[in-house]
Amino acid sequence: MHHFDLKDGTLHAEGVPLELIADEAGTPVYVYSTATLKRHYGLLRAAADAHREALGEALIAFAVKANSNLSVLATLARLGCGADTVSEGEIRRALAAGVPADRIIFSGVGKTDMELAFAIGVGVRQINVESGAELDRLIAVAAMMGASPAIAIRVNPNVGAGGHAKITTGGKSDKFGVPAAEAMDLYRQASQSTHVTPVGLACHIGSQITDLAPLEAAFRVLAQMTRDLRAQGHAVTRLDLGGGLGVPYSGGSEPPSPADYVAMAARVLAGLEVEAAFEPGRLLAANAGVLLSQVIQINERSDGRRFLVLDAAMNDLMRPALYEAYHDVLPVTPRPGASQPYDVVGPVCETGDTFARDRALPPLEAEDLVVFTGAGAYGAVMASEYNSRPLVPEVLVEGENWAVVRPRPTYEEMLDREPFADWL
Ligand SMILES: *Cc1c(COP(=O)(O)O)cnc(C)c1O
Repeated sequence: MHHFDLKDGTLHAEGVPLELIADEAGTPVYVYSTATLKRHYGLLRAAADAHREALGEALIAFAVKANSNLSVLATLARLGCGADTVSEGEIRRALAAGVPADRIIFSGVGKTDMELAFAIGVGVRQINVESGAELDRLIAVAAMMGASPAIAIRVNPNVGAGGHAKITTGGKSDKFGVPAAEAMDLYRQASQSTHVTPVGLACHIGSQITDLAPLEAAFRVLAQMTRDLRAQGHAVTRLDLGGGLGVPYSGGSEPPSPADYVAMAARVLAGLEVEAAFEPGRLLAANAGVLLSQVIQINERSDGRRFLVLDAAMNDLMRPALYEAYHDVLPVTPRPGASQPYDVVGPVCETGDTFARDRALPPLEAEDLVVFTGAGAYGAVMASEYNSRPLVPEVLVEGENWAVVRPRPTYEEMLDREPFADWL
């Protein structure tokens, strides 16, 4: 569900024609819908609230890495959404956007001592510890600060899942978390330290998961570990269920609804009296954003192959190159006529700079506008300036209003960022 619709024959973001944004902000540009962000958060919030008995006052912590734009984060923060972060930079963004520290979870496989100290200093809700080595360092850092931060142990439940091998995180050989038996030892070890306060367990098994079974299997591992730890006299008050629920990208399989997902979690956690946390990234943001781009030209080969050359490239939207991800390509102002197959490409000097092959698209001409849908998560955050292309800007729409929430840098700004070595 999203708020990008045709009105009077041309695609709008809520009440704003994309043509207007392209005219005034230029292309390529990401465009986000406030209404869609709100709707997705609201659906998940309502589902969690409907299962308060099993899930407690569940925290919904948006995975900042999916879309870290400050205005996007502020939109979610105002709804009461927390933040799941994986770096000091993301914690700083969440705080700057108005997420209270006690709704910020600090995850990640390689947190530095400085990042741990920063997280303790600002008082994040919980640090998810991913290894024995990290627990040792965290205890040392906390001891130096005279602190005892709340921690959860991130369990690798040995159930990997996800839309692509590169976004599967819960398999035995993936780098994330610790196996269940080892996690039990770490929990015991942590309880003996006065410099960390173990409060629970966490997992996150992958992304773009379109089947509840692996998620349920992972949650059952956490539930059983909770019972076992309690039998040994340990307190376990929070279970962090991670993110990973898939979204409908057309061309892929239809994911379960947020309501079914939350109901499943409630079934698994029923009776444990824990407070649950969900860490959705893609679920909240993916369909709240499009990448708006202009056709530079159409290259027709004598063998019939037709390349749609856009002004957006792999440096602006990496998912197709990185994960062979599918994004719908839609004309902003569709022309009548039969569809034809196009290879949709950008101008970057890499064959990987191909968004789609043999994609059936309605008639298009140079200077037409197109959008990639489902681009609100893992889109702008991964953008780079490869080929010295200015970092793609971002626009946020709310009703009839819109604002550039990350401007495109000028070429002067790009060059000024790099001082010459003083011997040159
Ligand atoms: C990336 C990540 C998420 C969000 O994953 P989505 O698939 O976008 O929901 C949640 N938790 C952790 C720890 C992550 O690394």
